[in-house]
Amino acid sequence: MELITTREIENFGRNLRFIPQAYFEPVNEAELIEILDRHSGCNFRAVGSLHSWSEAAYGDEVIISLRLFDQVEPVSTAESKTSEANSVWVGAGIQIKHLLEKLNRIGKTLPSLGLITEQTLAGAVSTGTHGSGRHCLSHYVQAVRIAHYCSDTRRACVTTIEGGDALRAVQCGVGNCGIITAIKVEVRDSFQIEELWLAYDTLDQVLEMEKQFPLQQFFLLPWKWTYLAQHRRESNQSASWPEWLYRVYFFLTIDIGLHIVLITAGKLFNNKKMVQWLFRKVLSRAIVKDWRVVGPSQRMLVMELELFHHIETELFVTADRLSAAIDFVQKSLKWSAGDGADLPDDYLRQVASTGLTGEFQAARGAYGHHYPICIRRVQPDSTMISMSSGGNQDWYAISLISYHRLSNRDGFFKAMNFLARAMALLFNARPHWGKHVPLSAGELVALYSEFENFKNVLSQLDPSGQFRNRWFSQLLNESHKE
Ligand SMILES: Cc1cc2nc3c(=O)[nH]c(=O)nc-3n(C[C@H](O)[C@H](O)[C@H](O)COP(=O)(O)OP(=O)(O)OC[C@H]3O[C@@H](n4cnc5c(N)ncnc54)[C@H](O)[C@@H]3O)c2cc1C
Repeated sequence: MELITTREIENFGRNLRFIPQAYFEPVNEAELIEILDRHSGCNFRAVGSLHSWSEAAYGDEVIISLRLFDQVEPVSTAESKTSEANSVWVGAGIQIKHLLEKLNRIGKTLPSLGLITEQTLAGAVSTGTHGSGRHCLSHYVQAVRIAHYCSDTRRACVTTIEGGDALRAVQCGVGNCGIITAIKVEVRDSFQIEELWLAYDTLDQVLEMEKQFPLQQFFLLPWKWTYLAQHRRESNQSASWPEWLYRVYFFLTIDIGLHIVLITAGKLFNNKKMVQWLFRKVLSRAIVKDWRVVGPSQRMLVMELELFHHIETELFVTADRLSAAIDFVQKSLKWSAGDGADLPDDYLRQVASTGLTGEFQAARGAYGHHYPICIRRVQPDSTMISMSSGGNQDWYAISLISYHRLSNRDGFFKAMNFLARAMALLFNARPHWGKHVPLSAGELVALYSEFENFKNVLSQLDPSGQFRNRWFSQLLNESHKE
């Protein structure tokens, strides 16, 4: 099916808008190949659910949506060489929620999940989407089929990549390796999660609990500067009877209630004072503590974060830098909110060492942070450029979400422009490829020791750069110069 459109394409965060020259929704690989051959001089970009805030999904010529590629085929036991099929071939455009439904019917699920399931599998994998306690989704990709131009014939073709550097690149390729048509992904038997919430004063206390609850995620409450931990671990117990009640409570209190209160406080009242009061006096008390609930992972690990439009920057640091990084975030948010009078000298020396004086001054008083700062542990992987790639330490992702309207995001951008760039210099903090990325090309590339290897793989899979968008063209040129 071919759609030529002048319609504007808009992402979830409404911060990325573009009008491509053409938009296609092929139904199968043969049709996709035909499209590529017919437009052989063009630049292509695949899009998923457009849930990225970064420039990852931007393309100005031909946009391809694989939303009709949604088949799920268990890999035969003969092919998987084990007594049980533990991987499936999945159409690249399937939304994760639909994949989970289909897997559930055969008693299987994904080993790891992000906070929402609206993304397509290819989109999520391509940006290193992650949850808490396990690896990012890219790590579980065992093979991919990609449509691109074969270097010998110069005609469009589909190649299956099953290992080596090419797989490590495509596992988190941010849309640059060609159009992914199918993904062979590891699955496992369905499992249960036990969850409970508890409050803590210090980071050390929360991290200590990780031994008991390896899948936990936790929230730094701005302006109170204490922690709420959502403790989670696998459980052999069957679903507890109040699980449905807990889901109703979670939906009404957290998915809906918390968001309405924080968004309204930010919009209707003096953002800073009202929000700070809510965090200091109300929020932690509003969450029920110590309610132990067991339920299926595909329900317990996710929430309805997509209900309200927002924008997010997420910064990944290694475990040994987590404490210092959180301290820096806290002080920088105070500065951004205009509360910087009592900032200690060692923080100001840190800031001075980055040389980002202009950015620091621009952030002063520009933005009142108004959302819990979610912190998640992600295990290191062997992909080339996922945010959690490389090393042997766990990574922690620190998420900064703003619900300010599109027309009122300038302060957020100023605050993140300082924070993300300073954190990259001080802590090698890597921004999520799918979220708002304030770093310049040179700053971003410097965070990945394998970027040159990634570039080499791209030169084989896509020698003429037809699957590269303007963002990655900049990144690749920068890396070339260095
Ligand atoms: C409300 C919300 C909650 C989120 N929660 C999390 C979370 O918990 N954890 C986390 O890590 N991230 C999270 N994200 C970020 C999100 O997972 C990523 O941005 C993801 O890439 C979005 O997937 P998508 O299908 O919308 O892809 P898009 O945004 O459409 O595209 C993302 C990238 O994938 C590429 N791509 C898409 N399809 C293909 C294909 N077939 N072939 C080649 N490349 C392709 C695109 O070119 C682009 O580079 C969240 C985002 C939102 C809006």
